[in-house]
Amino acid sequence: MRLLTGRPNVPDEYKLLHHVTKILESRRLTNNGPRVCQLEEIVAAYLGVRHCVAVANATLGLQIAAKALDLTGEVIMPSWTFVATAHAMKWIGLEPIFVDVRGRHLDPALVEDAITEKTGAIVPVHTFGAPCDIDEFRYISEKHGVPVVYDSAHAFGCSYNGNMIGGLGACEVFSFHATKFFNTFEGGAITTNDSDLAERCRRMRNFGFVDYDIVVEVGINAKMSEIHAAMGLSLLDAPLVAVNRDNYHRYRENLGELLMPHDEGSNFWYVVVETDNRDKVAEELAKIGVLARKYFHPGVHRMPPYDQREWDLPNTERLARRTLCLPTGPTVSKDDIDEICEVVLKWS
Ligand SMILES: *Cc1c(COP(=O)(O)O)cnc(C)c1O
Repeated sequence: MRLLTGRPNVPDEYKLLHHVTKILESRRLTNNGPRVCQLEEIVAAYLGVRHCVAVANATLGLQIAAKALDLTGEVIMPSWTFVATAHAMKWIGLEPIFVDVRGRHLDPALVEDAITEKTGAIVPVHTFGAPCDIDEFRYISEKHGVPVVYDSAHAFGCSYNGNMIGGLGACEVFSFHATKFFNTFEGGAITTNDSDLAERCRRMRNFGFVDYDIVVEVGINAKMSEIHAAMGLSLLDAPLVAVNRDNYHRYRENLGELLMPHDEGSNFWYVVVETDNRDKVAEELAKIGVLARKYFHPGVHRMPPYDQREWDLPNTERLARRTLCLPTGPTVSKDDIDEICEVVLKWS
């Protein structure tokens, strides 16, 4: 395939190699090294949030957030998401409860209906970087005393009304996986304004250690290494939003209403078309060397082990059938976009 959705963004080679040389010289490879600390500081300042806890990936980040909040019972989430949102919780014994979407986001009214005494948390997703119904979830959270943990895996660099996504709910969890807008090969971050929660997350990501030889609780290994942090530091000042925005507008000129809209606060990393003939469009794109991805098909509720019960999610089913995520980023040219759009328009 010549063009792919989610082809990784890479930094200037010499920036990264310089870090690698320094890391090897210092023999400080991991365990909260200087580059991890620096990345955390920069990310926290950029997002306007008090604490950033770097982790090995967002899946572990979600699990640590859940453990640090002492969640039990059920967690309400969309099914129209990447499977990790559900797996992260299921893996640690929490039960995902899938609620339908309104537009592309978890529907707050249906969430409120689904809350019971077993509900441990609400886990909305800022799908494709667009902020979900933040004010409604804040209201529901306060009214029912249920914490909100945002799966912000798509939303690094995105804002709403001029505020960066990152300080919402009890905490937010970002993914820095290679296919995401901003990457550290593998990686992620928990961001929060709650100092006690941040401290607990820091402890838990490092086996529960508070000092040499002193462990105070059960923890896991979710540390980010220095090489991973160096990748992030090297990529931070790349003009990624500008490139993606230009690409998005080119797509938009070609495809108009077929394209899911983004507002100005987006990182423009997800270029998503919605069409009845999604599968045919994907097939025809593959013929010209374009791997477009069917995010999110078939919906997590249709995957084992979640398909054991009947879920009534008509909007999720419809989107899972109709959406296709197209390539963008610095490796995609204007001509590539026009060529892709020709196929999309012909077969939609
Ligand atoms: C990518 C992704 C994750 C998982 O992130 P990792 O860093 O790969 O663990 C979780 N949720 C959503 C919505 C994602 O897209």
